[in-house]
Amino acid sequence: MLEAFLYLIVAVAAGLGGHRIGTAITGRRMREREARASVESAQLSRRLNELETDRARMAAILSGMVEGVLVVDGDGRLRLANDAARRMLNLESNLLGRHYVEAVRQPGVVGQLGAALKGEHRSPIEVPLDAVSAAGGPRIFRAQATPASAEGGGAVLVLHDISDLRRVDRVRRDFVANVSHELRTPLTAVRGYVEALMEDPVEPEQRRKFLEVIDRHTGRMERLVRDLLRLARLDAQQETADVHAIDVATLFRSVSTDLSERIERQRLHIDITVDAAAAVIEADPTKMHDALRNLIENAVNYSAEGGRIELEARAAGDRVLLSVADHGPGVPEADLGRVFERFYRVDKSRTRDPGGTGLGLSIVRHLVELHGGKVSAANRADGGAVFTISLPHRRDR
Ligand code: ADP
Repeated sequence: MLEAFLYLIVAVAAGLGGHRIGTAITGRRMREREARASVESAQLSRRLNELETDRARMAAILSGMVEGVLVVDGDGRLRLANDAARRMLNLESNLLGRHYVEAVRQPGVVGQLGAALKGEHRSPIEVPLDAVSAAGGPRIFRAQATPASAEGGGAVLVLHDISDLRRVDRVRRDFVANVSHELRTPLTAVRGYVEALMEDPVEPEQRRKFLEVIDRHTGRMERLVRDLLRLARLDAQQETADVHAIDVATLFRSVSTDLSERIERQRLHIDITVDAAAAVIEADPTKMHDALRNLIENAVNYSAEGGRIELEARAAGDRVLLSVADHGPGVPEADLGRVFERFYRVDKSRTRDPGGTGLGLSIVRHLVELHGGKVSAANRADGGAVFTISLPHRRDR
């Protein structure tokens, strides 16, 4: 197209100095050439527009990508870095045109780019970052540079943030380790007592004690397996909330009745306060019973003999708050946010382990979330823990 313009300019220049005899013929050719030039110039401007649109589209795609993309030319100079790449590699601004070795600080990434510039195809590497991921764990990304296929060499580096993947892996590994550990303790005890019963002659009194220990530990394993299965069902969203109108005072009373043996044995006092505005809630009765039972059972476990447990329901805006408060030792501030994690126990030694599985509160959280609610832990100003379930509340009832 440029040639056409040049031709036109040359032709016009030639025409200006031409002989009069050739004017008629030259004039026709000129008009033809002018017409052709105008078509070509329209095509050129359309093409330029298309290129500009492509460039803008490409820039939008690159800046919207979660993956980091970095392009280096055959001389090793940075030609492009999208926003994600700048964030991941903590790149300074104004780095385009600089050599990649100056701009990129991670040795692993520099190595990848160097190899790709030599035409090598290397496997991706994992690079840890100083920054902390949104989920709180360490940030890590996978980097792979490949030689650019375009003429003139160069390389393209793609970065994937795999922090979440690694975190899920770690959670799964910890979970398996925890389950194995939780099962090993009672299993070792059961095995020891069974062997003792089988090998040595045992007095009837001692035999009874051994059997009681076996019974306690098998009960513990049963609870663990039951809770694990329930969590698995909740995780797989196999449980749904079958919502009905529930009278909260009746619900509080029925959970207390379930635990009446322990409550009486520990001579505990249960206070129930239900505000009129929170007297009826919309929830799945069985699931809400299970959630409250878990919380009240914990309150019983951590209460001293003769202690008081307060069960309260009140409305707060478009929520209803159900709380279980005790006067026990409370939860250390640093552990408040973690007690809902699976197997999390404040007292790791389990010296005062009342037979819990460490899964109760994570089941409560699942059950409450199934209702679109939230559960939180806090400490009362005058000592003791308070667990609060907050549910969406329909006030028009
Ligand atoms: P567990 O089976 O150990 O009771 P949970 O998931 O129910 O498991 O509770 C997790 C941890 O939270 C407990 O081990 C305990 O450290 C702490 N916790 C729960 N409820 C209370 C409470 N009412 N008072 C003090 N600590 C509590």
